[in-house]
Amino acid sequence: MTTKIGLRGVGKVFRVRGADRPFTALDRIDLDIRDGEFLTLVGPSGCGKSTLLDLIAGLTPPSSGQIAIDGVPVTGPGLDRGIVFQQYALFPWRTAAGNVEFGLEAKAVPKRERAERARHFLDLVGLAGFEERYPHELSGGMRQRVAIARSLAFDPDVLLMDEPFAALDAQTRESLQEELLRIWEKTGKTVVFITHGIDEAVYLGQRVAVMTSRPGRIKEVVEVAFDSRAGDLRAEARFGEYRHHLWNLLRDEVAAAQREEATSVA
Ligand code: ADP
Ligand code: MG
Repeated sequence: MTTKIGLRGVGKVFRVRGADRPFTALDRIDLDIRDGEFLTLVGPSGCGKSTLLDLIAGLTPPSSGQIAIDGVPVTGPGLDRGIVFQQYALFPWRTAAGNVEFGLEAKAVPKRERAERARHFLDLVGLAGFEERYPHELSGGMRQRVAIARSLAFDPDVLLMDEPFAALDAQTRESLQEELLRIWEKTGKTVVFITHGIDEAVYLGQRVAVMTSRPGRIKEVVEVAFDSRAGDLRAEARFGEYRHHLWNLLRDEVAAAQREEATSVA
């Protein structure tokens, strides 16, 4: 097993204007994300999941500790990491293909190849035939597919996804989950996927990292192992056992977060 992303004693402190002391969002995070694995990350709202993803993405530097990818310290954003956010960060004035091609223009990929790659990745996410549609002509699920195609088009080693399906209806979410697993199996990318859904975490993750409420730490990393991915995993007894275990872990953390909120309001 090789480590793709290594986090060592990672902390993040925000200095908030008007507040008398700095706010610790993340504290001493140690985590090894394996090369090619699908890791899901769950934790109560506000525990620092998005902050952690931003740090791995290199959008903001850690206040302490180190993050390395393939052993090389992260010093900023890079094309080795693709990011997909919850909200569709698409350019409304560009077609689906135009959105996917955007990053390739920055990489100076020739026009013909850009168009071919855009078509390939839109096809991969199930959007063949929708290349010339504008975002407002697409459903929420389709827009999120475009966002995924766009991040895949760079061919990043690592895909960082921050609650990408949270705004979608249940049926669209389930079909996108399946598509994403298929793409992951096909491409062998390392995926870090944040969710607040326990079912989603168990369904998608080979491992589920559970975070504590403020400040965010890694509470436990749960290995999820099914005999086979064929059939309806959600109906398996083991699915229910993982779900129950994670639910217990999270219940304590959500309660802690609520207690803290109550005392800070009082
Ligand atoms: P999550 O994604 O788990 O809901 P976030 O990572 O978004 O949590 O936020 C963790 C905590 O850090 C929250 O309390 C949030 O208010 C705070 N926070 C996030 N970004 C900033 C920032 N730029 N400045 C100050 N506080 C921030
Ligand atoms: Mg978040």
